[in-house]
Parts: sequence; C-alpha cells; structure tokens
Amino acid sequence: DIALAPDFGHRWVDALLETFLGRADELGDLDRRSGDGDFGTNIASALRRAQRNIDADRPQDYAGWLTAVSRGFLGTGGTSGPLFGMFFRELSRCAAGAEPTLAEFARGLAAGLATVQRYGGAEVGHKTMVDAIAPAAELLESQLGSNDSPDLLLARAAQAAVDGARSTADLLAKRGRASYVGEVARGVIDPGAAAAAIVLQAAAAAQVG
Ligand code: ADP
Ligand code: MG
Ligand code: MG
Repeated sequence: DIALAPDFGHRWVDALLETFLGRADELGDLDRRSGDGDFGTNIASALRRAQRNIDADRPQDYAGWLTAVSRGFLGTGGTSGPLFGMFFRELSRCAAGAEPTLAEFARGLAAGLATVQRYGGAEVGHKTMVDAIAPAAELLESQLGSNDSPDLLLARAAQAAVDGARSTADLLAKRGRASYVGEVARGVIDPGAAAAAIVLQAAAAAQVG
C-alpha cells in the first residue's frame, strides 16, 4: 500500500483553508441564485471555527488536522455544516498510522460519501455535494490497483469532482433548497458540489506539494 505525502493532513487543511477563503464569495453567489444565499457565510464561519480548533489543539497528525476541520463544520448551521462535518469526521478516522495510505484515503472518502448519503438521502443527479464526491470516490476505488502514482490518482479524483460539480448546472435539484426553486436554479452549479470539488482539489495540491 502506497504512502501519501509526508504531513499530508496538515498540507491538505492548509490548502483547504487558503482556497476556500478566496472562493467564499463565489460560493455564496451560487447559493443566492439557487438557495437562500448563506452558503458563503456558512463556509466562512466553519473555517473560522476550524482555525480556532487548530490554534487551540495544535494538531500533530492527520487525524488531528481533519478532526479540527470536522468540528468546525459540525458547529455550523445550514444543511451543509453537519453534512460536511460528518464527511470530514469519516475522513479523520481513515488512517491507522499518523498519515493515511492511498488505500486508506480512498476508503475514507467512500465512508464520507456513505455518511452524507445516509443522512441527506441524496443520490447522484440530485444536484448536491454528492454529485462531486461520488465520482471522485469511485475513481479512486476503481484505480487503486493501477500502478499510477498517488499524485496522478488524486489529481484525477479532483478532476472527477470538478466535472461532477459542473454537471450539476444542467440538473434540477431533488434535495436541498434548490429543489424549492426548480427551473430558477437551472444553469447554476450547486454550491455544495462546487465546495466538495474544492476539497478534492486541495487534497491533490497537498499531495504534489
Ligand atoms: P441551506 O440550504 O440549509 O441554507 P447551505 O447553504 O449551507 O444549506 O448548503 C447548501 C448545500 O447543501 C447545497 O448546495 C447542497 O450541495 C447541500 N445539500 C443540501 N441538501 C442536501 C442533501 N439532502 N444531501 C446532500 N447535500 C445536500
Ligand atoms: Mg443556503
Ligand atoms: Mg440556510
């Protein structure tokens, strides 16, 4: 089984905090066009909480870094707060050692997807974060046995998440607030899916350094 980059958890969370902060406005705008407009502020407050947890707990390993992020989201309102909180909680538990192997990370992502689907009830095609997470999880699972490097596999998983997020623009929502507005949200990328794609892109960036 292949190790991920040294300090992967720390690097992933750093990359995540950095990219999310730069894109909170854009994500909020997507929610204004398809939901109630609070997604940007929900994300920003989850990240502020995550940063406070990091400052207080001084994480030493992957589980510590991901737990700080998970608790940041779990303490935040909106539908996305608890869902991302549980998603990151599953990911925080995937590593037996200080940092996850590629296979452990793939299993963690699959477990994160499963918990989001268990609590939210969304399937692929319902125009939610699931549309970005599921293709990334499936890609990693299916290419785990290949001889390609973890750098390449995480980059492909991130691309699958980005493509999945883009695909939500054409969909009619079956879950979440966008399902209340129907055709009005047609053409708008689901903000939760866009955020999930950012999470996977940050993981790929953390892996290559
Ligand atoms: P709210 O709609 O309560 O204001 P947020 O704005 O924080 O919640 O989050 C909206 C995002 O949550 C959506 O873009 C979608 O990706 C995600 N979401 C909503 N409902 C579900 C669900 N049942 N399953 C998975 N994701 C969902
Ligand atoms: Mg909202
Ligand atoms: Mg709301």
